[in-house]
Amino acid sequence: MKPLYIANWKMNMSFGNSVNFCLNNLKQLQILTNNAEIVLCPSFIALAPMIEILKNSSIKIGAQNCSHYESGSYTGEISAQSLAEIGVTYCFVGHSERRIYFGETTDVIIEKANLLLQNNIQPIICIGETQEHFKTKATLTVLKEQLNPILENISATNMRLIIAYEPIWSIGNGIIPENSYLEEVFAWIRKIIGSHAPDYTPQLLYGGSVNEKNIAQLKKIARIDGFLIGNASTHFEQFFSIITHY
Ligand code: PEP
Repeated sequence: MKPLYIANWKMNMSFGNSVNFCLNNLKQLQILTNNAEIVLCPSFIALAPMIEILKNSSIKIGAQNCSHYESGSYTGEISAQSLAEIGVTYCFVGHSERRIYFGETTDVIIEKANLLLQNNIQPIICIGETQEHFKTKATLTVLKEQLNPILENISATNMRLIIAYEPIWSIGNGIIPENSYLEEVFAWIRKIIGSHAPDYTPQLLYGGSVNEKNIAQLKKIARIDGFLIGNASTHFEQFFSIITHY
């Protein structure tokens, strides 16, 4: 399995910037896919044009969100079916910014994940604890509360499970956890998946302030299958350095 690098552009890249990122770096992006699986997640309106630009490449395109309704009168929403129809193959669920700013609950996350799976879109399930949880050593309890109901209620046929562990206290601020802490958390997540959903093949990603300076340290961690990268992924040179650091 190639390491997986997922770029979360959030609302930080405009439509024009997103399209230009692909047009300007198409060849190099394609070369990167020899040794890595790369998923770019722009905002909704850039999805279709980016899919068109990258159609002859191995770069995958992911959405940052989808509706938890299948279809219907839900003004402003975008369904998993529509995403699939334009060629989206990945989508985040449970990102901390959706949980915090848009009230995304575990039930909603499960509904979204199942709709995505029904439409052959791979959910990228994000979990992570707050600083308060971290300080009070409640991380594993919180992750268990976030993860178990999802593992028990999703029905995937492809059996690929992508979990991005993103401590909320390390997102967007340049702070990353100690390697020993991440090793403990990742081992524990693998154990939980092994006991609750043994048929799945998990791919575990770390996300939170990954950049070209700290990637050497992060890549020393055993058994991380890839990275979810926010801010640094909006600068091609930084994204490139992160992926090509061996
Ligand atoms: C994120 O929010 O998914 C993320 C990883 O952001 P950043 O890399 O900017 O901390």
